[in-house]
Amino acid sequence: METRLVNSLDFARANFESYVEALSQLIAIPSISHEGYDPDAIRRAVEWIEGKLNSLSMDRVRVFQTSRSPILFAEKLAPAMGKPTILIYAHYDVQPAEPLEAWDSDPFAAARKDDYLYGRGSSDMKGQFLACIAALEAIQQSGELPVNVKFLIEGDEETDPEPLDSFIKEHAEVLECDHCLNVDAGMLRQDLPAIVYGLRGAMSVTLNVTGPDHDLHDGMYSGVVENPFHVLARLIAGLQDENRRITLPGFYDDVREIDANEHAAAERHPSDADYYRQASGSPALIPDDEFLPIERIGARPSFNVRWVEMGAKKSAIPVSARARLAFRLVPDQDPDRIYSSLVDYVMQNAPTTVSWSFENRVSSPGVLVPVESDAVRRMQAALKATWRVDPLLQRIGGAIPVVGELQDYLGIDSVLTGFSLPDDNIHGPNERLHLPTAQRGIEALIRYFFLVGEQA
Ligand SMILES: [Zn+2]
Repeated sequence: METRLVNSLDFARANFESYVEALSQLIAIPSISHEGYDPDAIRRAVEWIEGKLNSLSMDRVRVFQTSRSPILFAEKLAPAMGKPTILIYAHYDVQPAEPLEAWDSDPFAAARKDDYLYGRGSSDMKGQFLACIAALEAIQQSGELPVNVKFLIEGDEETDPEPLDSFIKEHAEVLECDHCLNVDAGMLRQDLPAIVYGLRGAMSVTLNVTGPDHDLHDGMYSGVVENPFHVLARLIAGLQDENRRITLPGFYDDVREIDANEHAAAERHPSDADYYRQASGSPALIPDDEFLPIERIGARPSFNVRWVEMGAKKSAIPVSARARLAFRLVPDQDPDRIYSSLVDYVMQNAPTTVSWSFENRVSSPGVLVPVESDAVRRMQAALKATWRVDPLLQRIGGAIPVVGELQDYLGIDSVLTGFSLPDDNIHGPNERLHLPTAQRGIEALIRYFFLVGEQA
């Protein structure tokens, strides 16, 4: 295997420009899964990926329609019997690029500057997905696959977990595998790869507060008729105390204690308070003398208002005001329970001067994956051989719903890593991919596929 590994690594290095070219093509397809964007771009992204998978000569490539964007499934069996099966997860959808004027280049025309490739999806996660493809291409040019490979590629990761959730429930058999490889989790610094073992879940929902049945002249009505925004603002403010602890009854009941080992690791973690202050550009962080910032991000729940909407900019009392409320949750917290206590809270605290409703609820539970598995150990070895440093094991604050779905429905654990960096501006303007890191990522993946293939 040594020669094959060397050949594959050489091939990947020599052909890195084809990776950049493929990524540029995929960036040029604005596959935004949000409501109101061109559904044809989703179709073209699916076609492009189908072509790419076929060029890898997969045994089977299938496109499944869902209630929203199609899901692609593909598989290729290694010729040797009894090899482990890796299910590679990816998503081809991206966030909208607005505000477009904040970009220095066209978000949907890849632009190369210094060591970076700019464009929507370059880092989240078209570049990550294509790193897996590039690794497999490099391996296949020197011989057969050392493992069985399956692909599960969805197009609604940025918007709605439901289509994938149903797909996983209904296709347990085709998804059968030893573990899932998910390269959507990112790393911390160019010189420090990471494996993620904990993810926060989330429960987000829109709260609508409605007042008068038409916009009212505020000179003629204010002081008599309630402004729904004022009620909304009071409700939001009441969800946290002065220490930003969430006030919903029982909210913290199921939150696991951080054990001594985890706390020691958090103390060594490079993301300290200075890091968060600098990375966020905030004047100061929320004070907390109980938990380190990295613990608050990875192992503690939090509350955030994502957006607020109310009347036009005119002198009026608006008909309604709405806000998107988002709770980040940790393992053992039940999103449904959090939602019902939120409903109770509004029921008890909203005055009779308004009516209210909740809509568009999305939730996923927090997840922990075992760190002692063979698969994680092999990924650790692959990352270490590539970066020449022990990878960081960490919990992160974001949700990757597929990890929990695979675990809950099919008992499949995921190996979570990735080659995106905190300053890649994912979801923001000027999203970019650090190309030397992507190149190392491809090399690490090549090593990982071979290492997993060596398994008895
Ligand atoms: Zn994303």
